[in-house]
Amino acid sequence: MKYDAIIVGSGPAGIFAATELVKHKKKVLIIDKGKVIKERHCPVLEGKAKTCVNCAVCSVVSGWGGAGSASDGKLTLTTGFGGNLEEYIGEGKLDQYIDRVDRTFVSFGADNHCYEPSGAIVKETIRKAASVGIKVLPARIRHIGTDASREVLNNMYLDLKEKCDIMLNTFVKDIIVENGEARGVVLKDDGIYHADSVIVAPGRDGASWLENIVNRLQLPIASMPVDIGVRVEVPDSVCEDLTEHFYEVKCLYNTPTFDDRCRTFCMNPSGFVVTEYSRSHNLVTVNGHSLKKTKSRNTNFAILVTKNFTQPFSNPIGYATHIGKLANMLAGGGILLQRLGDLRDGRRSTEARIKRGMVAPTANAQPGDLSLVLPHRHLVDIVEFLDALNIIMPGVNHSDTLLYGIEIKLYSLRLELKHTLEVPGVRNLYIVGDGAGVSRGIVQAASSGLVAAQSVLEESGMAVEAML
Ligand SMILES: Cc1cc2nc3c(=O)[nH]c(=O)nc-3n(C[C@H](O)[C@H](O)[C@H](O)COP(=O)(O)OP(=O)(O)OC[C@H]3O[C@@H](n4cnc5c(N)ncnc54)[C@H](O)[C@@H]3O)c2cc1C
Repeated sequence: MKYDAIIVGSGPAGIFAATELVKHKKKVLIIDKGKVIKERHCPVLEGKAKTCVNCAVCSVVSGWGGAGSASDGKLTLTTGFGGNLEEYIGEGKLDQYIDRVDRTFVSFGADNHCYEPSGAIVKETIRKAASVGIKVLPARIRHIGTDASREVLNNMYLDLKEKCDIMLNTFVKDIIVENGEARGVVLKDDGIYHADSVIVAPGRDGASWLENIVNRLQLPIASMPVDIGVRVEVPDSVCEDLTEHFYEVKCLYNTPTFDDRCRTFCMNPSGFVVTEYSRSHNLVTVNGHSLKKTKSRNTNFAILVTKNFTQPFSNPIGYATHIGKLANMLAGGGILLQRLGDLRDGRRSTEARIKRGMVAPTANAQPGDLSLVLPHRHLVDIVEFLDALNIIMPGVNHSDTLLYGIEIKLYSLRLELKHTLEVPGVRNLYIVGDGAGVSRGIVQAASSGLVAAQSVLEESGMAVEAML
């Protein structure tokens, strides 16, 4: 059977691409190596295992809904966050896509409430932060919640499975390109499926698979930044003045010693620190989420240091995974945990020291020493940023603050793409979402899927203008 479009990956990018195509009666096949949402279980998240058991396909990041379904579903509804899509389509258009994605999520059951930072406290926070060189970016946020997020994504599945073909538990081995045109995909069992267009949306977990394909097809790469850092955990009281007004405070900071760009990322009030496993890298890393119904007493967020590598170095994923693996090695296969005070004092953390502290960890992690893992430059950046953040989050640089390592964002392969997200030189091949370095969050990933789908529709002779 020949399809109008094959979509690799059923994360937000793939799902939204499919939604758009089936609305216009296109014949679509979605393929994902992970499971249907109801069968996605993580032994660690469900308390059945203490540390990551390295499942063949990690249910935290793979399967229907992609990485987004294990997330707490914070939809960031302001341009300037969650990716680079703006650079391809412009801010005005991105705004329209964000609105469209938001309305779609609400129509499938997302919470109606939206956080819109405004008022005297927000103004004062921005002023205070600026006095120490931190730029605070207020964003509109809709919080679906991890548990509710699964329901919303399942509703999308039930809707789509009536309108297109969906193959889960199916690994796509390769993309077929002939005479400069995408023609279909090859599965792990060598099964071949043909299509007029292929939309590749493999997420961060599929980034190194994509890297192999990019190298084989000699596709152009735009730049190669990589984000490495730690997840910070503090009592809710340290952040609650801010989280009440912003829900998530996004801060940018250039560190004094190395002039590196650092940012806070993915803040989870009353949330939980979680681990995620990448089989392709055999790597356990840190993340965080919050639940709508079950709450902890801690807030967690990431501090990430962005590094842009230039020639001759061309393996940023290798660099980041190398650091992550060092942490796994020292932590007996999992993630490391250290009190900020112990890091400053140049000693490892122990169970006893963590127990004596104010913050009870929400994740199972091995007390140890992050300075044996992170480069000096990253450590200095992180400590300097925490010291500066103290002005708007009093107590965040306290000795008992917990640091989990390593948090890595492997969306480091940024491809050169047309404004339609089609690959230059390969007709009808689109690469979208986090895996292409286009997005870094649910809303921009979903928007990028819409952009590609609308280009496919336009190629087939439809007028796109009225589609938003
Ligand atoms: C724990 C956690 C919390 C998060 N919280 C938030 C949040 O609150 N807000 C937010 O905006 N973002 C959050 N994110 C990030 C967000 O989930 C991603 O930005 C988003 O899901 C990216 O969408 P995507 O469609 O590009 O890729 P993904 O969602 O990663 O989906 C890619 C899919 O492709 C499949 N795949 C990959 N390679 C292959 C292959 N070769 N063959 C078949 N299938 C393949 C994978 O199995 C996966 O299901 C979180 C992520 C995690 C892990």
